[in-house]
Amino acid sequence: EEPLAETATGGLDLAAALEHARAVGGPALRAMSLAGRGALLQRISRALHAHRDELLDLSRANNGATRGDAKFDVDGATATLAAYARLGEKLGDAPFLADGEPERLARGARLVGRHLRLPRPGVAVHVNAFNFPAWGTFEKIAQAFLAGMPVLTKPATPTALVAYRAVEIALAEADLPPGVLAFLAGPPGDLLAHLGPQDVLAFTGSAATAARLRSAPAFVEGGARLNVEADSLNALVLAPDAAPGSDAFARALRHAATDITQKAGQKCTAIRRIAVPREHLDAALEFLVAELREVRVGNPADPAVTMGPVATARQLRAVRDGIGLLAAEARVVLGGPEPVAGLGAPEGRGFFARPTLLLAPEDGAARVHDTEVFGPVATVLPYDGRPESAAALVARGGGSLVSTLASGDREWLARAIPAAAPWTGRLVLVDDKVADQSLPPGMVLPHQVHGGPGRAGGGEELGGLRGLALYTNRVALQGNAAVIRAFPGE
Ligand code: NAP
Repeated sequence: EEPLAETATGGLDLAAALEHARAVGGPALRAMSLAGRGALLQRISRALHAHRDELLDLSRANNGATRGDAKFDVDGATATLAAYARLGEKLGDAPFLADGEPERLARGARLVGRHLRLPRPGVAVHVNAFNFPAWGTFEKIAQAFLAGMPVLTKPATPTALVAYRAVEIALAEADLPPGVLAFLAGPPGDLLAHLGPQDVLAFTGSAATAARLRSAPAFVEGGARLNVEADSLNALVLAPDAAPGSDAFARALRHAATDITQKAGQKCTAIRRIAVPREHLDAALEFLVAELREVRVGNPADPAVTMGPVATARQLRAVRDGIGLLAAEARVVLGGPEPVAGLGAPEGRGFFARPTLLLAPEDGAARVHDTEVFGPVATVLPYDGRPESAAALVARGGGSLVSTLASGDREWLARAIPAAAPWTGRLVLVDDKVADQSLPPGMVLPHQVHGGPGRAGGGEELGGLRGLALYTNRVALQGNAAVIRAFPGE
């Protein structure tokens, strides 16, 4: 609750900052091979890792993160950088990416066509959400740098200190070429007004802010590219065969409990809606309540604490109000909007929320499908167990980042997957065979795409080399086969 730093952007010439990146940083990156840019990412990853303890401590002070939550963010940053460094290394000496093989365009072999992906000769502006100041900053930098674009990065103000320190470390210790990385903390002022046709804005944050940004003239008229990673009402659906006693039942619900409590539920990928066949409802509630009762909310500096506070006073108010909104239609099974004293925290201090589980009446709740309560909150939804109903529940979120189907019933899945998949960016399948290895759906991997349709923003990041699409332009070359085949691009 005490200020650690102040941000201010008044008086900065943001147009000049962007132009410096375009004129100095862009050419420096484009002059490097993909392997060279990969090596640069590796240096950043190592530099951050060398300061791991410092960043974890700062994350606790700035975000109220427990050590586990801080690791999720900080180690997520270094791991994603390292994954993109390996991709760069594999791509070798080429300066840009080929997209498919040359194809004959006429009879004979002389005339061919080929697609290439070239870095956009602009600047990538990154605007991030408060909940992942390290990972959010560097997962985006990893993709932009490997593609060959310089970056101006703006973290969310409440947790800007972690991002600031991490960028400071990268600039001091990773031997970056001049102009490739700029940092801005605080109100972005007229930043977007200076975006040009080859620039990119990669935004992560709420759907409300995204809606405002979409209408900016830079995108509507100017041709700048916008990627939106917004909020999401992620679902977990148990099928009838994921019955109490099965590994799939236990693992899927344990993941749900993790999502409610990890980072105090402040994850865009957290499970918010848990659909359970009627016949398993009592067992599922009992399981979840038992898991959540183990949670010890409090001061993240106290080793006994397993869940820290939400990040700001405003968010605490929003979480309490949000629980109130959901509770108008659903019954509070555990927790609730009331204040809670934090273990190891001075009396009356700390933005602590209760892990909260609600139970909605079958088919009777609407808010749970359209209200993201960005805290330790999820709602259980009983349903009839049919695969069509499961997919319809996923779809009612209006487009999400990740959804989970817990089932080993191939016939059930064959009907549920095609109907649910278009409504979610990632679909996690949990059955008894992979239950022990399955990863929590809230974990975003560099190899798999991140983003989702509709409400989730319609954007796409990561997914290995797929993530470079945002920062590159595809060009179709056609002409003399000898010229085109000899052109660099592997
Ligand atoms: P937010 O309030 O929408 O802010 C996001 C970012 O936008 C911040 O950096 C904010 O800066 C900036 N911003 C606000 N108004 C702006 C404007 N007019 N022009 C340019 N930038 C502007 O979201 P948040 O509270 O930080 O984050 C929580 C939300 O993010 C949740 O809804 C969560 O689901 C979503 N999220 C999504 C993902 C994903 O990958 N899809 C990941 C994490 C979080 P200031 O902080 O300085 O206002």
